[in-house]
Amino acid sequence: MQDGATPLLVAVGVGHLAVVKLLLAMGAQIEATMQDGTPLYIAAHVGHLAVVKLLLEEGAEIEATAHDGSTPLLVASQNGHTAVVKLLLKNSADREVKVYGHTPQQMASQWGNKDVGKLIENYCCNVCKKNGKIKLCSRCKKVRYCSPECQKSDWPTHKTVCKKLAMKKRLNRAFKV
Ligand SMILES: [Zn+2]
Ligand SMILES: [Zn+2]
Repeated sequence: MQDGATPLLVAVGVGHLAVVKLLLAMGAQIEATMQDGTPLYIAAHVGHLAVVKLLLEEGAEIEATAHDGSTPLLVASQNGHTAVVKLLLKNSADREVKVYGHTPQQMASQWGNKDVGKLIENYCCNVCKKNGKIKLCSRCKKVRYCSPECQKSDWPTHKTVCKKLAMKKRLNRAFKV
């Protein structure tokens, strides 16, 4: 094929999960690239959540860039693929990476994907804004912290919001039959 597309890249592009699985089992190159990037980048671009999940499980490089320096998180944000963005963030994708001077969050708002922008903005430690391995507040499950220290230091301010959020959650659950 002239453009360097491997069967894996093609299967990822059309979102054919079973074929992607099969090709990987047969030893297809998970980081094979063409101009448009690696299989993970392409899956993030088109927004195939199941394929993105599979590739991450198979150890695909989460920061693999396309020819313009864009990463899977950047391209998923730009295209408003909320579920894919969430999954990438969960897997500690870098939120500070930039393409043409824009972070994933800026990219999302610029392209009118407000939900994605908000998701990225909040997907960090509520105190130090650190990225990466962060845990949800166990009570409200809304804000995130990188460490017990950060959580402790935020508690005096978070306390009131947390109680409200937790209450809302309980009510929602109670009315969901
Ligand atoms: Zn922190
Ligand atoms: Zn909380």
